[in-house]
Amino acid sequence: ASRTVAAAVRDALQTVVDTIDAHVDELGRMDSIAGDGDHGIGMQRGSHAALAAGVAAQEAGAGAATVLARAGDAWADKAGGTSGALWGVILNGVAGALGDTGTPSAAEVAAGIETGVSGVTSYGKAEVGDKTMVDALVPFTTVLTEAVESGASLPHAWGKAADAATAAAADTAALLPKMGRARAHGQHSVGTADPGAHSFALIVSALAVVLER
Ligand code: ADP
Ligand code: MG
Ligand code: MG
Repeated sequence: ASRTVAAAVRDALQTVVDTIDAHVDELGRMDSIAGDGDHGIGMQRGSHAALAAGVAAQEAGAGAATVLARAGDAWADKAGGTSGALWGVILNGVAGALGDTGTPSAAEVAAGIETGVSGVTSYGKAEVGDKTMVDALVPFTTVLTEAVESGASLPHAWGKAADAATAAAADTAALLPKMGRARAHGQHSVGTADPGAHSFALIVSALAVVLER
């Protein structure tokens, strides 16, 4: 069973790569409005490094937690930029909940996401409403945990949470940024969603489709 979960983690990392590759120009354009324009290439560099490290660990026989932790470390190391460090925190938070043997329950996966999200807020100090990825992360984890606690399967709960993240990411368009590079040119970003919130929503939405397979 542990090998199966590690293989599922590897498939999930491949899905992240495919999703970012398909949106790299869009993410760069969004980040160029008030930021420095590198969110697409940064996410591309980070996710490709994460996949390579995860594949290497899985092929060496590592369990799911180790595969995902290696992937998170590679992402933070190779992406550069704020979002790369934060994605490293997210992946390591989830990794801690998976374990290297056995199959994690839906509640354990949801707890891992919560750990990753609280890692992001304690590392990055952004709050909901600051126009960062936190604006998508928090509703994602809230809806996921509530759905799992009320008995939903992981694929069903994840789908609802991804929809909440997508709506919340779109809602950031109306906000003025208070954190990160975008703060300096904040007024230009009104009308465009936060790139980090948008990329998070794209990724979790793509993963919802994978979980349902
Ligand atoms: P950089 O800003 O270093 O160029 P990216 O362009 O890859 O990095 O990522 C920008 C995204 O990072 C923003 O759109 C926002 O979602 C996220 N971000 C920036 N600062 C923070 C923070 N303090 N907390 C959470 N997310 C942040
Ligand atoms: Mg940037
Ligand atoms: Mg940058």
